[in-house]
Amino acid sequence: MNSFRQHIPGFARDGREPPEPLIPFETTADLLALEVVQRYVGPTFSHFAMSENCLMVIADDGFTHWVVGFIKDPASVDLPQWTGWKHLVRLHDGREVVLTDEVVSACGGRLTLRDGTEAVDVRFERQMAKQAADSAKRDAGICPRCDAPYATAETPDSNGSTRIDWTCHTCGGRMTSWRPKGLPVIIQDGVTR
Ligand SMILES: [Zn+2]
Repeated sequence: MNSFRQHIPGFARDGREPPEPLIPFETTADLLALEVVQRYVGPTFSHFAMSENCLMVIADDGFTHWVVGFIKDPASVDLPQWTGWKHLVRLHDGREVVLTDEVVSACGGRLTLRDGTEAVDVRFERQMAKQAADSAKRDAGICPRCDAPYATAETPDSNGSTRIDWTCHTCGGRMTSWRPKGLPVIIQDGVTR
């Protein structure tokens, strides 16, 4: 009997201590049918793959990947091998190209290429620009999804902070943020579908 252990990164642990429980499974189909695995099948889902003993989910046409969890006997799992990182890169001459193995390190939106030069991660840059634009809209009381005004409801927490529930009555977009005592608003989970 093979087994799977979910990977939960530290920032998402929410107080729970590792390790996650071992989940037994027999076939690759059983593994992929697990609820904790199916959770990763989002709107931009591409496929599942293996990288050594890690079950990976690949999304956004290969530009995004996460480690879903760890497999005790990876050789018996019938999935393609993960082909590695994939970046949309802007070189210093302004050309945008897709690179894989040529990228040796990534820090924020800055990539170092195998020839020692630096390049810009175009998708990261777009993501940052979108987050900044969304956050400016929220600050102005406008829904980032549909540009309609937001309704907010503030509830005081027992520890003195304020919970703020935002609801867009036009597109149904919802979001929760907290304003700690005496501090500015922290956006916690973005606009959810
Ligand atoms: Zn909206």
